[in-house]
Amino acid sequence: MTDEKMTDSNMADNHKKRMQKLKEKVDSRIDSATDERGLLIVITGNGKGKSTSGFGTVARAVGHGLNAAVAQFIKGTWACGERQLLENAGVKFSVMGTGFTWNTQDKEKDITAAKQVWLKCKELLSDTNLDLVLLDEMTYMLSYKYLDLDDVIETLNNRPKHQHVIITGRACHRAIIDLADTVSEVQSIKHAFDSGIKAQKGIDW
Ligand code: ATP
Ligand code: MG
Repeated sequence: MTDEKMTDSNMADNHKKRMQKLKEKVDSRIDSATDERGLLIVITGNGKGKSTSGFGTVARAVGHGLNAAVAQFIKGTWACGERQLLENAGVKFSVMGTGFTWNTQDKEKDITAAKQVWLKCKELLSDTNLDLVLLDEMTYMLSYKYLDLDDVIETLNNRPKHQHVIITGRACHRAIIDLADTVSEVQSIKHAFDSGIKAQKGIDW
């Protein structure tokens, strides 16, 4: 065998050993993760991908035959594609009856609308038939103080034990991050909008 071939086979051998070690580590972590309960997941940050992540998880759950519901706190001016798809799959949507809050410029009306959706959320968060509830763009309701933080925390804490909840939106309140089991922050590296490209159907809504 040439020296070069020896090195190749040594490298393959070392790689195999490293992978074996890694597999043992991962397997032992999988074995020790035995708890099972509803998770609180937060997808926050300034980058694109928060709502699509939430809706992707709803699609994943529904694909397994689980029951899911969606509450949307900031309604865009366009119908989002996920709603059309998921409503056909039996997912119930509760949508805030105003446009983007920075468009309406009517704080009192926005607060009333937020509180109405939150009342619906409270029903969803006490419904033992629901396996997953997506609270899309809810972070803003807390940063604008449209909803009472203690009430939100208490409702999340008292939800059915098996129920998963996903909260999306920028600048998530610290108390919700502390309460959550899984938190991801989507960072913006760049966005097409900054290059003057308008929101694209099927990609941005
Ligand atoms: P998506 O729904 O695509 O997952 P998102 O939920 O992470 O986006 P939002 O802050 O809810 O982001 O904004 C919704 C809309 O704003 C989408 O059309 C999205 O493409 C756009 N958007 C998201 N991040 C940025 C950004 N950093 N700059 C400009 N536009 C953005
Ligand atoms: Mg979003």
